[in-house]
Amino acid sequence: MEGLTAKEAEKRLAKYGKNVLEQRKKKSPVMLFLGQFKDVMTIVLFACTGISAFMQDWVEAIVMVGIVIINAALGFVQEFRTEKTIEALRSMTAMHAKVKRDGKIKDIKAEEIVPGDVLLVKSGDIIPADGRIAESVGFTVDEALLTGESAAVEKSELSKEDCNVYSGTMVFSGSATVEVTQTGMNTKMGKISGMIQDVQEESTPLQKKLAKMGTYIIFACGLICTIVVVTGLLRGEEPVGMLLTGISLAVAAVPEGLPAIVTISLALGVQRMASKNALVRRLPAVETLGSTTVICSDKTGTLTQNKMSVREVYSLSEYLPLICVLCNNLADATEKALYELKDDKTEKSAAEYERVAEIPFDSKRKCMSVAVKNNNGECFLMTKGGADVVLAKATHYAENGKIKRLDSITRKNLQRQNEIMASKALRVLAAAYKKISAQDAEKVRVLKGKSGNVENTLIFVGFAGLMDPPREEVPSAVKMCSDAGIRTIMITGDHKVTAAAIAKEVNISGNDVLTGDEINAMNDAEFSAAVDKINVYARVQPEHKLRIVKTLKKKNNIVAMTGDGVNDAPAIKEANIGVAMGMNGTDVTREASDMVLVDDNFATIVEAVKQGRGIYGNIRKFIRYMLACNLGEVVTMFAAVLLGLPMPLYPIQILWVNLVTDGLPGIALGLDPVNDDIMKQKPVSADKGLFSGRLPFLIIFRGILIGLCTLGAFVAINFTTGNTELAGTSAFLTLVLTQIVHSLECRSETKGIFKSGIRENLWLLSAGAFSLLLMLAVIYLPVLQGIFRTVSLGYEQLAVVACFTAIGPILGGLVNEIIFLAEKK
Ligand code: ATP
Repeated sequence: MEGLTAKEAEKRLAKYGKNVLEQRKKKSPVMLFLGQFKDVMTIVLFACTGISAFMQDWVEAIVMVGIVIINAALGFVQEFRTEKTIEALRSMTAMHAKVKRDGKIKDIKAEEIVPGDVLLVKSGDIIPADGRIAESVGFTVDEALLTGESAAVEKSELSKEDCNVYSGTMVFSGSATVEVTQTGMNTKMGKISGMIQDVQEESTPLQKKLAKMGTYIIFACGLICTIVVVTGLLRGEEPVGMLLTGISLAVAAVPEGLPAIVTISLALGVQRMASKNALVRRLPAVETLGSTTVICSDKTGTLTQNKMSVREVYSLSEYLPLICVLCNNLADATEKALYELKDDKTEKSAAEYERVAEIPFDSKRKCMSVAVKNNNGECFLMTKGGADVVLAKATHYAENGKIKRLDSITRKNLQRQNEIMASKALRVLAAAYKKISAQDAEKVRVLKGKSGNVENTLIFVGFAGLMDPPREEVPSAVKMCSDAGIRTIMITGDHKVTAAAIAKEVNISGNDVLTGDEINAMNDAEFSAAVDKINVYARVQPEHKLRIVKTLKKKNNIVAMTGDGVNDAPAIKEANIGVAMGMNGTDVTREASDMVLVDDNFATIVEAVKQGRGIYGNIRKFIRYMLACNLGEVVTMFAAVLLGLPMPLYPIQILWVNLVTDGLPGIALGLDPVNDDIMKQKPVSADKGLFSGRLPFLIIFRGILIGLCTLGAFVAINFTTGNTELAGTSAFLTLVLTQIVHSLECRSETKGIFKSGIRENLWLLSAGAFSLLLMLAVIYLPVLQGIFRTVSLGYEQLAVVACFTAIGPILGGLVNEIIFLAEKK
């Protein structure tokens, strides 16, 4: 079949439209902006505005509206960016398809397929359009999505009822050439539009935890604010002013920005990971990545380069190259390498054979066969595959043109030869053949993939040892994992000895290797004990991967698991982080995965884990910062009320602090660079997570300190000058400065402000400088003085402010040292 010309395809694309299912309507930017006014805090702020307006305090009312709008604008920008990032990711992970255009096979985006295209699909693909099968080999399709029937159905051009395939279904095995009949909304899938699933937007566990924490905080703040208001009223403060103070304090104390910043950090992290070849398909995965404790990786292509070459041949007969050439589709690196055994002589003899049928390779059987016919009409079955597998199917061997019985001594010798080659890290394949009748050859053709049972009583002809060198960056990536408390496990379809040899080369520890057969022989208790020790699994089948993941998870591990074939999908789904391959993987595994590796490289997973940890760490940093600052504001006001002092801060000042000093440095902390140190620590346990370690202490300690320093500046100046306005402005400045300084401290939980290398995050320094500049404007510009009720400060007051600001880092640093010494003991 020739397929369409590019020109004709273009015409049809214009006529029938893109091959896409109509998507749910996207939120327009206007709706996105209006959506920002829905949250409780904005409503409370509007209430404040109403009260100010009622009091005819117009300036304050206008400023509050301004603050609400700026807040909403910030929220809008964050959400808009997040949507854009996610959209970009969707198009990056969009499906591709192979079609024949202008007589050549081309890889195009699935949305460009048109009716009439000739489509090539193979095991693991998701069929991108409806069509009719023209040719097929061992072709079965999983149509559960349409029929609910989970068993794969056989389809072929020969059967009248079952020669159609449908968009959205998955090729389970074999391959086919399909002529496209319908695309887009005209497909069966398009018509059942109710079944179209969109990518679900889900909250991450962290966001859920934060939401829960938010309710507690709202409750606590409500209580404290009520106490402040009631005490103020009892003391005879003016009621409306006191009410405004209470509300402003509540607005300032509730960390309403947290969920938004969490989303933004995660989305930015996703972007950063994409630039490092890891496409994260679900936002929560970023969080889980950070707590990964085990990475289970395929060998071929992920730990190794997937560039194979034949390094050693052990052959008793001249048939070895002929079988390697005839029983070959050049479908993977193994086959390409074996094809290289072709010389002039082999080429000549290969020309005398014609392929009648194929029993395709599958990773369960670990071999492939073809039925061929020569010019004399003689038929042969030629098989190649895993050395041990093919040897087990052989009963004879060919030596110097003679066929001999494979007695137990020769068999043992051959097995020994296989092991010698495998111990040199070679993937050893064996070739074998047998003569078959024309009827048997025809049977293989008609029964297609289901005729595996003819692969017996074979005549063994030799071994070919293939080298697939480890990827250069893998040994150091594995080492980095072990430093980071993460175990690396190799799971491979390859031979035990080859697997062990490669494991050694890439720094995977442990000499014990468990094979699929050995796993089968173990009961759950035995296997559960084994998974703690075993780091290399060989000759496994996909279902073993599922058992490995389940057992590791039962032992409280957070498991990342890679996979490429269709059968790997269940294990990938089961893993905490399912990792699919972008280059050599299948659509089905990609759909089941949380993350796709663009370059199929193990080191990319490790980099993603590092980024995940970094993002989690950054989230901890700004949570620490925001909560300590908010607590500081509450402590200032609450302590003032309890001590019978005048209110140090005006409502509008509290709102200003909330917007300026909380928001910008918070975002900047989310952008803190991820450094290598993070891979020297042990993984953070997923359930303890957020508030583990000394974080709660640090938040409470620094929160109280910020509050007391602010109040201290207020009291000191009030006491020395007797001027409450001057004292108020000094407290206002101290509050902002202590928060800016604290934002720098939040970069590290263990190191003091100067040891943590503040220059590494220029965003944070700029945010601090910008906040300070705005603050100076608020204090010294007469227009703003009127609005924010401030007065200019003199040198004496500035000196007092500086002293109280310095207390935080000095005392904080001291406490840090004490904790450090105590922990060392
Ligand atoms: P890993 O699981 O490490 O990625 P793999 O994916 O290469 O390894 P499989 O593809 O399942 O593992 O291959 C398993 C075995 O099947 C190989 O060790 C090899 O002996 C044999 N094999 C691989 N490719 C072919 C092929 N095209 N034809 C015949 N046999 C093959």
